Amino acid sequence: MTGTSTKVADVVAANPAVWNAITCAEVNARLEDASAEEIADWAVATFGSRLAVAASMQDTILPHLFGTRLPGVDVLFLETGYHFAQTIETRDEAARRFPITIVNVTPRQSVAEQDAEFGKDLFARDPNSCCFMRKVDPLARSLQGYDAWVTGARRVDAVTRANLPVVTWDEGHGLVKINPIALWSDFQVEIYQTAHGLPRNPLVAQGYPSIGCEPCTRKVAAGEDARSGRWAGTDKTECGIIA
Ligand code: SF4
Repeated sequence: MTGTSTKVADVVAANPAVWNAITCAEVNARLEDASAEEIADWAVATFGSRLAVAASMQDTILPHLFGTRLPGVDVLFLETGYHFAQTIETRDEAARRFPITIVNVTPRQSVAEQDAEFGKDLFARDPNSCCFMRKVDPLARSLQGYDAWVTGARRVDAVTRANLPVVTWDEGHGLVKINPIALWSDFQVEIYQTAHGLPRNPLVAQGYPSIGCEPCTRKVAAGEDARSGRWAGTDKTECGIIA
C-alpha cells in the first residue's frame, strides 16, 4: 500500500462521509473532460492499491492503463465457470504481459454444485439468479476492503449506459466507482489498442462486440446493437454489476 492510499483509507475509515454521492459528483465535474490517462492518474494518486480494476477480458485496456501506473494492481476477473476459452486465454496473456495481479473472483458454488441444487443450465431458465450467484454476489464480496473500483463500461455500450458518469458513488457496494473510458467511442478503443499493441480477445473480430459467458453470448450481425448478442431472446440487458 502506498503512503497516499494509506492516508485516504485512514481518512475514509475515520469519516465515511468523505466519499459519498456529493463528493463524487464534484470530482466527476472536474474529470468529465479529462483523458482516460488523466483519470487513471487521479485514481492511482487518490486510492493507490486500495483500488481494484474489474476486467471482463473483452479487451485488455484497463489492465494496461492501470498496470503501467500501479504495478501489481488487483485486476478482478469474474470467473463464472462459463467463459469462452478465448476469454480465459486473453486473461492469461494479460497476466503475462502486464504487471498486474489477476484475482479470479469465484462464486460460492461450482457449476456442478449449482446444477445439483438448481438444475442443469440455470442460465437458460433464470439468468437473473444465475448472474446473481456467479457475478453479482462474488463481486460484492470481492469489493469489500477496497475504497474504489474501476470498470471499462462506456456510454456507447447501451442506452442504459448513456449517462454513465466518470466517477460516481456506488451506493450498493459502498465505494467509489470509476469509469475512465466512459466517454470513449469504438474508434478510441481501437486507437488505444493499436497504439499500445495490446493483446486482443479474438472473438471481437469474429462478430462478438460484447462478450460475456459463452451460453449467454451470440454473434451480432453488422449494424445490430453491440449488446444485442447478450442474453438474446430475453429482456435482460445487464448482469447487474454495472447498472
Ligand atoms: Fe449465468 Fe449467463 Fe449470467 Fe453467465 S451471463 S452468470 S452463464 S446467466
